[in-house]
Amino acid sequence: MTDINLGAGCEYSNIFFEKLKQIKDHGKQRLFIIADFDHSLTTPDSDTCWGIIEQSGILPEEYVRQHQQAFEHYLQIERDSSQMSWEQKNDLMSQWFLRMIDLLMEFEFHQEMISQIFEVKKIHFRPEVLSFLKLTKTMNIPLIIVSAGLSDMITYCLSLEQCLFDNIMIIANCFDFNDQQLLTGFKQKNLIHTFNKDRQVINLEILQKIQSRHNLVLIGDLIPDSKMSESFVHQIAIKVGFYNNPDTLQVEDYLKHFDLVIKDDASFTEIIKLLGWLTI
Ligand SMILES: [Mg+2]
Repeated sequence: MTDINLGAGCEYSNIFFEKLKQIKDHGKQRLFIIADFDHSLTTPDSDTCWGIIEQSGILPEEYVRQHQQAFEHYLQIERDSSQMSWEQKNDLMSQWFLRMIDLLMEFEFHQEMISQIFEVKKIHFRPEVLSFLKLTKTMNIPLIIVSAGLSDMITYCLSLEQCLFDNIMIIANCFDFNDQQLLTGFKQKNLIHTFNKDRQVINLEILQKIQSRHNLVLIGDLIPDSKMSESFVHQIAIKVGFYNNPDTLQVEDYLKHFDLVIKDDASFTEIIKLLGWLTI
């Protein structure tokens, strides 16, 4: 056991403390963090990167209707895809995102709408997330956000909080705009969705920033998030899962995939404690 005291809302895997000790022994200069965005850095009931566009009322009702129709259809597939091959899931999730971007293009989404959206709606960070972001900056620990959401939204709301630090890197779907600032599609060909977060091609800039760092702390809220570490060459990964009371899964299910499970709509207090303990 270690002398770290985490709150009552935490449950641990058998190897959690052993991994903690190893990472601490290797030192903070070997450490980096990867985190999911929606409902991990943000509260379970916050609008998501995609959802905030629909919820903002910036686009006409017809957009909202069609968006919801597609959302309900594909969300069901995302949630109930256990019988599908990875290829099938990958195709369907990409299809979903292409449908969403087609809709936005049809309704002439333009770049200025991003700031307009944030004038009427907010993405809500979990309590203490901003302190956590500042701490990673102060400690010079790279933080990589891996999201099936939109990097444009993530960047914008981090900058609103003055937390878009240079140690933060974002791997997410990215809007492409033309000279008239009209949306023309995604910048990248391979879209990021729930089921391929473990297969990301890491760009040179990120590789340089995590060079010589081989231990990681992973933060997510869905079980597929626990695989995000597989895109990164690493030695030890501590996986932290926020258990947001999903319909069909128990904490025990989460403990099969995460080393530390945090329950009860929690803040980032325990993660800050964890980071503090790992790095002193
Ligand atoms: Mg999430």
